[in-house]
Amino acid sequence: MTPQWIAGPDCSLTRHGEIPRFRQGLYRLTPNAYAWMVPNGSWGETNIGLVECNGKSVLIDTCWDLHFTRQMLGAAAPVVQRSPIDIVINTHADGDHCWGNQLFRDREIIATQACIHQMHHMAPRSLTALQKGGKILRHLPAAGLDCFGHYMSAMFQPYDFSGVRITDPQQGFCHEKCVTVNGVELVLMEVGPGHTDGDALVYVPAESVVYAGDIAFIGVTPVMWSGPLDNLTAALRKLLALKAGMIVPGHGPLASPTDIQAILDYWEFAQEQLHARFQSDLTPFEAARDLVLSPTFQATAFARWDSPERMVTNAHTLYRHWGARLFNLPGKLGIMDIMRQQAILAFALPEATPRRLRHFHP
Ligand SMILES: [Zn+2]
Repeated sequence: MTPQWIAGPDCSLTRHGEIPRFRQGLYRLTPNAYAWMVPNGSWGETNIGLVECNGKSVLIDTCWDLHFTRQMLGAAAPVVQRSPIDIVINTHADGDHCWGNQLFRDREIIATQACIHQMHHMAPRSLTALQKGGKILRHLPAAGLDCFGHYMSAMFQPYDFSGVRITDPQQGFCHEKCVTVNGVELVLMEVGPGHTDGDALVYVPAESVVYAGDIAFIGVTPVMWSGPLDNLTAALRKLLALKAGMIVPGHGPLASPTDIQAILDYWEFAQEQLHARFQSDLTPFEAARDLVLSPTFQATAFARWDSPERMVTNAHTLYRHWGARLFNLPGKLGIMDIMRQQAILAFALPEATPRRLRHFHP
């Protein structure tokens, strides 16, 4: 069947101020599988899955804050009223996939063990501090701090993290786990570490639907926080091998096998191009900037994907796995420093999207 839009708010622009490439809302994909789809798949514009199981439902991921989780639940009301949510599955530990968990704290929440270990890698109050601090940093024209401040406050602007309390899944698994709810089987497949430490795919064989989480970004630059890349590409090939009729990515529109192949092509291209620059002793930032600004990159379709500056994060992760001696700040400070480098590159790309992250002239 063709996906059918059911309900959702009317928005003329996306959360980040872009023209929507598809309509936001809850879609019925197959008789019992649904997806809450948020255009265009940029920062926090996360897709959520919902599977109806004869009077109960399974939710796959929650939103970045409570407001957007409630908005999603409002659109899903016709389904969840007749089939209340019984189980929540988190595909990974990024906040935009699990920070709405607290609305389901009395339900069973499942994730990989590695995802559970990573649940607290970022604190909601740190992001609130960055939201506020970012506005101040915008006026500090040194070491790219002004770019960083503008980038972070624009990225977080649609969200309210103030009431978020991270709610851990109680059920961990490794490798593979089958969950059967009223006779409907969901197969949870651990494919991380790759995008994060604890990535999982959720496959519903009877509906021929797979919820890919952030293994798949469509029309949006993919991110590899953890790696190694071999795991991430193996996950993408596993996703293709399922031959599901519907692939719901973590971000962006519903995916075809060609779209998944394009992500594999991106990773092959990024790896090859960055490795040449690694061998020429460029730092990850220099390599990413040199590549993204090059005519070679600009001639590819990847240059039109949202947030091309994520090449900086990808370069850092690849370099780490290549054994490069990096002098990065530890932990969260290191992540923030990579974001600062991403911000500098973002503002060197006047045509890249989302535009709201670049209405700024350092
Ligand atoms: Zn993610």
